[in-house]
Amino acid sequence: MPSPLRVIYTGGTLGMESGPQGLAPGRDFEARLRRALETLPPARRASLPDFVFEATPEPIDSSAATPADWQALGRRLAECHDQAGGLVVLHGTDTLAWTASSLAYQLQGIARPVVVSGAMQPLEAPGSDALGNVEAALRFAARAELQEVAIAFAGKLLRGVRSRKWHTRDAEAFISPNYPLLGELVEGEPVFYPGRGLDEQQRGAPRFELADYRALGDAPVVRLTLWPGIQARQVAAWLEAPGVKGALLEVWGGGNVPSDPALLEVLAEASGRGQLLVAISQCPFGAIEIGSYAAGQGLVDAGVLSGDDMTPEAALTKLVHLLAQPLDEAQRRERFRSPLVGER
Ligand code: ASP
Repeated sequence: MPSPLRVIYTGGTLGMESGPQGLAPGRDFEARLRRALETLPPARRASLPDFVFEATPEPIDSSAATPADWQALGRRLAECHDQAGGLVVLHGTDTLAWTASSLAYQLQGIARPVVVSGAMQPLEAPGSDALGNVEAALRFAARAELQEVAIAFAGKLLRGVRSRKWHTRDAEAFISPNYPLLGELVEGEPVFYPGRGLDEQQRGAPRFELADYRALGDAPVVRLTLWPGIQARQVAAWLEAPGVKGALLEVWGGGNVPSDPALLEVLAEASGRGQLLVAISQCPFGAIEIGSYAAGQGLVDAGVLSGDDMTPEAALTKLVHLLAQPLDEAQRRERFRSPLVGER
C-alpha cells in the first residue's frame, strides 16, 4: 500500500468564499474539498490517491505571503517528507511561483514529488478550475518518478523554479518561459516527458537546506527594474536602504544598462559593501549574457552576477536563500552561478 499523500492548504482563491469585502479564505476547506472530489465520475474517484489533509494555522490570500511563510512551509514539508508518499501544497496563484521557487531551494535533493497548485476560481464557482487542478496535483504527486518541486496547473506540470504567473484571468495562468513542460495530463493520466526532470546528481539523498530567512531582517533583498531615464540617485536610494544585502536588477534585453558612470558607480559601491547584485533580463523569454555589448560591460565591472535565463521569482528567492546561509561572499557568488535545482 503506498503511503497517503499529504495535502497542505495555505489559502488562495480555490478555497475562498464571498464575504462583505469580497473573496476571502473560507471555512472547512477539507470538508468542501472532499465533497467536491466525491462528485468526480466513479472511475476517476476510485483511482485517486488517498491523502491526509492539513491547513496552515491562518490560510491567507497569497498576496500577503512573505519569506517567513516560505520558510514555515519548507520546514513543514521537510517534516512530512518521510511519512508521505508525496506532497501537495494548495496555494493562492498570485505568489505561487515565488513560493514554489523558494521551496525548490529549501528542499534541494528531495526524494518525493512536491506539487504546488491553486485555482483561478473558487472551488464552488460554476465552471471552476479548482477541482481539476487539485485532481491533477494529486495524480502527479502520487508518481514517485517526480522528485522535485513542480506546479500542476491547467493539466500541465511545470518546474516550480522555472514558472511564472502569466495571466490574470485565464485558467492557463502559468508559463515556464525558459524550460519545457515536465509533463501533462493525457486522458486524465500523468505523462512525464523523458529527460526533463532533475537528474540523478541533483536528487540523491535528501539534503534539505532549511535556512533561517527571518534572521535576514525584513528587507534583505530589493528588486529593481530599470526604465529609460532612471537616475543613479534613485538606484542608490534602494540599495542604500537599511538592511539591504542583495538586489535583483532587471536590465534590458541580453544584459544591457545605460552607460551612466554615476549609476555604474552606485552599483560598484554596493558590490564593494558586500551586497550580492544579480541581473536578469526584462524580457520574459531568453537569457542574458552580460558584457556581450559595450552597454553591459559596466555591469561586469561593477561585480554584478548574471542570472542567465532565470525568472525574477527564481533569482530573488535564490538571493534570499543564499544570503541566509552561513557562506562567505565567494561561496555565495559561486553558488549563485551554479544551477542548484535546475533553475538556470
Ligand atoms: N489573490 C489570490 C491569491 O493569490 C489569487 C488566487 O489565488 O488566484 O491568494
